[in-house]
Amino acid sequence: MSEVIHTIEQMKEFSKKAILAQKSIGFVPTMGYLHEGHLSLIQKARSQNDIVVVSIFVNPLQFAPNEDFNTYPRDFEKDRILCEQNGVDVIFYPGYEEMYPQSYQTYVEVSFLSKPLEGKSRPTHFKGVTTIVLKLFNIIKPTRAYFGKKDAQQLIIIKKMVEDLNLDVEIVPCEIKRDADGLALSSRNVYLNAKERSQAICLKKALDKAKELIDAKIYDSQTIIQNMKNVINSYDLARIDYISINSTDCLSELKEVVLGKTLISLAVFFGKTRLIDNMWI
Ligand code: AMP
Repeated sequence: MSEVIHTIEQMKEFSKKAILAQKSIGFVPTMGYLHEGHLSLIQKARSQNDIVVVSIFVNPLQFAPNEDFNTYPRDFEKDRILCEQNGVDVIFYPGYEEMYPQSYQTYVEVSFLSKPLEGKSRPTHFKGVTTIVLKLFNIIKPTRAYFGKKDAQQLIIIKKMVEDLNLDVEIVPCEIKRDADGLALSSRNVYLNAKERSQAICLKKALDKAKELIDAKIYDSQTIIQNMKNVINSYDLARIDYISINSTDCLSELKEVVLGKTLISLAVFFGKTRLIDNMWI
């Protein structure tokens, strides 16, 4: 049975006891509506720790007013069952008032890394992410925390926050899980209608094109990006937000791909639905 905890006080009490008993805590932060991508993080946490805690919290702070906070898919009962089936010990499921009481006023921001890529389209997003993740780390006190490479910039930013603020948690990166046709799993994929869903594979197709060029020793970023654009533009419902080639350490734009140090990432709209994907070279 997964225990469901709603309050910060009870969650802290649980972690305190676990730490006193010298148990390691693996933590998987999520916004719920769990899919195989989330489950792969949970399974990794399960294999590496004595205790697994999953948080489910659709964090209002990381959504801009024009974004999908209200419509973001939620299904706690299904999530609870999936957690149970995957050996989760505790589901931390706090309410909004619990995490952000009316008097709330403290934020944490990883300044430069939060600006490019996703930060350009979503200027307040990562401040919301780092604030909630730091709060969750302080409440749960995990030994290890699991983050998907699907949200590459988020992973890089969280690692930087942990380094800069000297947090005692190991950040474990996890591979991207995909549907059979290559579309990266995401809770937001449910927004896609059938035609959009069939075209949503263009993100992976564009990344495959980039990989093909790099394998042929073509490293020029502009050439790679132009080829990726051509792939996406051959799908009539897709609208490119950005395609970018950046260094994995400081996220600066690269003129040329550097093997082992490059992130190729893109965001594409299908109607109002914004999908992201990436590849670590
Ligand atoms: P979310 O619920 O979207 O905030 O995601 C929670 C965690 O699951 C984040 O660390 C994500 O990067 C990770 N995640 C989401 N989708 C995938 C995926 N397709 N493969 C691997 N990890 C994922």
